[in-house]
Amino acid sequence: MNSGFGVFQEEHEAFRRTVKQVVDRELKPFVRAWEEAEEFPLALYRRFAELGFLGLKYPEAYGGTDAGYLYEAVLHEELAKCGSGGVAAGLAAQFTIGTGPIHLFGTDAQKRAFLAPAIAGQKIGAFGVTEPDAGSDVAGLRTTARREGDYYVVNGAKTYITNGVRCDYVILAVKTAPEKGHKGVSLLIVEKGTQGFTVAKKLKKLGWRASDTAELHFEDCRVPVTNLLGDENNGFFQIMGNFAWERLSLALGAVGAAEDILEQAMRFTRERQAFGQAVAKFQVVRHRLAEMATDLECARQLTYHALKLHAAGEYALAQTAMAKKVATEMCCRLADQALQLHGGAGYMQEFDIERHWRDARLGPIGGGTSEIMNEIIAKQLGL
Ligand SMILES: Cc1cc2nc3c(=O)[nH]c(=O)nc-3n(C[C@H](O)[C@H](O)[C@H](O)COP(=O)(O)OP(=O)(O)OC[C@H]3O[C@@H](n4cnc5c(N)ncnc54)[C@H](O)[C@@H]3O)c2cc1C
Repeated sequence: MNSGFGVFQEEHEAFRRTVKQVVDRELKPFVRAWEEAEEFPLALYRRFAELGFLGLKYPEAYGGTDAGYLYEAVLHEELAKCGSGGVAAGLAAQFTIGTGPIHLFGTDAQKRAFLAPAIAGQKIGAFGVTEPDAGSDVAGLRTTARREGDYYVVNGAKTYITNGVRCDYVILAVKTAPEKGHKGVSLLIVEKGTQGFTVAKKLKKLGWRASDTAELHFEDCRVPVTNLLGDENNGFFQIMGNFAWERLSLALGAVGAAEDILEQAMRFTRERQAFGQAVAKFQVVRHRLAEMATDLECARQLTYHALKLHAAGEYALAQTAMAKKVATEMCCRLADQALQLHGGAGYMQEFDIERHWRDARLGPIGGGTSEIMNEIIAKQLGL
């Protein structure tokens, strides 16, 4: 089935073959050990940089290849098949949330100081919005940045931050004018090593285990004003703008992971014998697999529709929210059904389905929950 028809051209499919080779040879054989260790080697960032994977949508002036969103879409889909949501997320955070805002809103000096080394795999970036008391409610965040001369003095905490332990800098959402609500949010680049910036703890998780997820603390942390991204008090709109690609990339990752899940369910049920025949021969199993393939195809087409709009430069807010919600929820359903089709084997760590099932569950939560996606869609409908 050529499901990418109409979105991806031959050059994208050629790139897909390259990524697939890298995933098969350099990630798949090792992901179980990395999941067990709850981290993957830092050298992978350098390797991905060498391959040009960290700068696909970034200008050549900063070390990118300017290849565009469609190439990165392919990367998201194929990376999701590596067998570890954590490895995929830890690497993808580097070329999405960890660098996207600098590319979109940074000055030339900020791009040279942070974006270029991140594209080269020399610096790891993170994006810190969520707080212990504010997740979906971005406007309700409480971390403050008070201006003192040429510095902002930052106080507060962030949680669930991907790459928070190992990052060299975090793009931090702060309140520069707390009294102004969502119009008082700004984005600051805070470097690791700045006094008052500490990693409070590395968090234990249901899934995405190979990625590092941290709670970060800021106490009288002095950040130079030159590290402000874009205009002061414009952070809420910058965060919303940045969400577009983050959500689309989560939808694309869900589509890629679901492809892997379906393939594994088909392989397992063809090989597994019960009552003297392959499990895949039972009518109920064939129909279950057919329904899973249909579910995947619906989500894929909606995701590709949003992708086409995004790649054409449209701000497709509703379509992106729909794709994110539909694709990530579809992936959870497929992982659950595939686990059932595996029987007891699906519950065992030696099969990838168990990990897919745990990893998929983050999809409808991270980058804005399904409930928040519904809110966005409803607002776009004028409700
Ligand atoms: C593994 C992992 C990695 C993450 N990485 C990052 C990262 O790198 N950077 C970062 O900033 N954040 C990150 N997050 C945080 C993630 O984006 C948030 O968890 C998510 O936005 C939801 O926020 P919350 O957890 O505070 O849930 P809450 O906002 O507390 O929501 C709890 C429940 O209430 C519902 N709810 C809330 N408001 C409404 C509403 N208005 N209408 C209806 N329902 C509502 C939610 O949908 C949810 O079901 C990560 C989270 C995880 C688990």
